[in-house]
Amino acid sequence: MRRFTEKRLLVATHNKGKLAEMRALLAPYGVEVVGAGEMNLPEPPETETTFVGNARIKAHAAAKATGLPALSDDSGIEVDALGGAPGVYTADWAETPNGRDFVMAMERTWAECEKLNAPLPRTARFRSTLVLAWPDGHDEVFEGSAEGQLVWPMRGVQGHGYDPMFQPEGYAITFAEMDPAKKNEISHRADAFRKFVKVMEAE
Ligand code: IMP
Repeated sequence: MRRFTEKRLLVATHNKGKLAEMRALLAPYGVEVVGAGEMNLPEPPETETTFVGNARIKAHAAAKATGLPALSDDSGIEVDALGGAPGVYTADWAETPNGRDFVMAMERTWAECEKLNAPLPRTARFRSTLVLAWPDGHDEVFEGSAEGQLVWPMRGVQGHGYDPMFQPEGYAITFAEMDPAKKNEISHRADAFRKFVKVMEAE
């Protein structure tokens, strides 16, 4: 595995929440984090059918455009009863002409499980795939997941996206009812981050 020894890292996201999360994570390593928005980078179309495919598109486009190593993230939720949907299309299920509506996306997700009469518990997992790409075309992939089940009705007001209908394994509360610091310890993204920061540590 190639190690990360540079002092600057481009984070290939226009999402301020993800950028802040990555800055905090990288602070102890003395890495200067540059956001894709600050560099006016365009958002490439996510045309692949896998998390890793889309994360690769974003990381390589940013590394090529800036000459800096670039880190991207692609994430979503997979519902077993729906054959893994919405999966890589998680954000698409929330799309409306006026922006993203996650209540609508969660209602659709539960309704599709109901239509199939899917047995309880309706198991699901969040996945997060991080890709670190260098301008010379090399990349490293780090995958994280968080297992759990869907619950209905939605519960809790914290977090974002599908958090109000996702109850992680071993807990009786949803991600949206959980203290954000706790969620950040057990989430899919934390799992992937833990693997990623290893490439910055000495062997
Ligand atoms: P993308 O990675 O920006 O393409 O978006 C993936 C989508 O998955 C997001 O829009 C969220 O709705 C959903 N998602 C990813 N991580 C989480 C999470 O931690 N909680 C809730 N929803 C999430």
